[in-house]
Amino acid sequence: MSGTVSSLKPLPGNPATRPSLTEGLTATVAAKTSAVQQVLQDAAGEFADSGGVAFANSFGAEDMVLTDIIFRHRLLVAVFSLDTGRLPVETYALMGEVERHYGQKLEVYFPESPAVEQYVRSQGINAFYDSVELRKECCRIRKVEPLRRALAGRGAWVTGLRAAQSPTRSGLPVREFDAGNGLTKYNPLSDWSEEEVWAYIRLHAVPYNALHDQFYPSIGCAPCTRAIAVGEDIRAGRWWWEDPASKECGLHVKK
Ligand code: SF4
Repeated sequence: MSGTVSSLKPLPGNPATRPSLTEGLTATVAAKTSAVQQVLQDAAGEFADSGGVAFANSFGAEDMVLTDIIFRHRLLVAVFSLDTGRLPVETYALMGEVERHYGQKLEVYFPESPAVEQYVRSQGINAFYDSVELRKECCRIRKVEPLRRALAGRGAWVTGLRAAQSPTRSGLPVREFDAGNGLTKYNPLSDWSEEEVWAYIRLHAVPYNALHDQFYPSIGCAPCTRAIAVGEDIRAGRWWWEDPASKECGLHVKK
């Protein structure tokens, strides 16, 4: 594995990227890492003959923890990503770094170009700001439909969601049935804290998105993500013009 984009020299403004690595925190992260590894190994075994298990890596801090665990331990979990066409330049930089760091080419799914062209022609290039409906339609075209293709034929999928990330994710189970996509879904980081995520990244020198050091705790598409202010909720920078209760992109919404 080669060097990292920014994991060893965080900018001074972001306490999340430099937790104090106490003995207790290190031990907790080690125990939780073993638990995640076990969940993924068991899942890979259970679904080996029914499409296998795939992890959707969106290159946030949590997803980089899972990426590292999967590649480091050579787990039998496929890793794929969605490129909406509107990602921040920092995310593309990280994608390249992930390829170099782990010696793996990425499996990337793109939106169907006729659907994007039709949306832009009829609604406008930045129509997602105009209404929740148009925002959700953009997410459907650029994220939800490619995800459906990426998951087709798989037995289960894995996400980096954490229960503490937002009101819509409280009580998140490690394993659930994803009725929207019709397969089992694992959220192995469900009980991880933000501090534990960053401790793992520091302990294992995992590459991460440079935007995290610029007060972007949650990163999505460039036009729909902004930095947060001190004291704001960690998801406050996503679709910040909308009501918090509606702020999901459709990838993780229950039917
Ligand atoms: S996050 Fe914004 S740009 Fe990205 S797919 Fe959703 S609405 Fe479109």
